[in-house]
Amino acid sequence: MRYIEPHAHMVSRTTDDYQAMVVAGCAAVCEPAFWAGFDRSSAAGFYDYFCQLTEHEPRRAAKFGLPHYCWLCINPKEAEDVKLAQDVVALMPQFLERSNVLGIGEIGLNKNSRNELKVLELHVDLAARQNQLILVHTPHLEDKLKGTRLILDVLKADGRIKPERCLIDHVEEHTVKMVLDQGFWAGMTLYPETKCTAARAVDMIERYGSERLWMNSACDWGVSVPLAVPYAAQELRRRGHDAATIDRLVYQNPKRFLSQCSKFKLIEPTV
Ligand SMILES: [Zn+2]
Repeated sequence: MRYIEPHAHMVSRTTDDYQAMVVAGCAAVCEPAFWAGFDRSSAAGFYDYFCQLTEHEPRRAAKFGLPHYCWLCINPKEAEDVKLAQDVVALMPQFLERSNVLGIGEIGLNKNSRNELKVLELHVDLAARQNQLILVHTPHLEDKLKGTRLILDVLKADGRIKPERCLIDHVEEHTVKMVLDQGFWAGMTLYPETKCTAARAVDMIERYGSERLWMNSACDWGVSVPLAVPYAAQELRRRGHDAATIDRLVYQNPKRFLSQCSKFKLIEPTV
């Protein structure tokens, strides 16, 4: 099989993970900017992180023959400090031009606070001005439904933003319909403990169709499974879905969304 891992924090993973992903059929990996597990103390910390995402990590992935793309932002978990966020957003334009950067993400909300909303609007404005794709993180611990509503309202309030160029990630049973009905793409995150299991993801696919959905592992420095997408493909197979359906979900769909950025290129396998 072939698949695209559209959401993985590879700076936190080992080379063994790269090896396993490639052997499982991974054709490209995309890495949104994320919280480091601790708060960075200055914009300079983000400057170094953006260099890591655009210079070092693509070289590490290339050793395994894997194309590496990334998304840039200050993550909602660090968005309480609006001055820091403004400084980081000011750093971003120079990096957005780099060859492996797909857009702005993962932006969104964590605790649905006023400051987080302000920082979300800063990012959305930058994306609109520079015609960038948007990848959105929806809250896990606080109220996901409320957070998702607030995020969709911010995106819809900006007339420059096209829903088909935004992906709303970490959807669950109570948010997926709202996201799809309003024309956005939806991402399902496959986590062993929190978020969504493969069985729940397949239930949602069977209920809501597979047109504007993708699945990802969102593997990071915490409990997570880098091969969650191929494992979900196995669950799809077990439940009788054919090879074409599986290929659409794990390869064609992410390719279709990500190809809206002209920098996203895949080398088609020649077997
Ligand atoms: Zn993430």
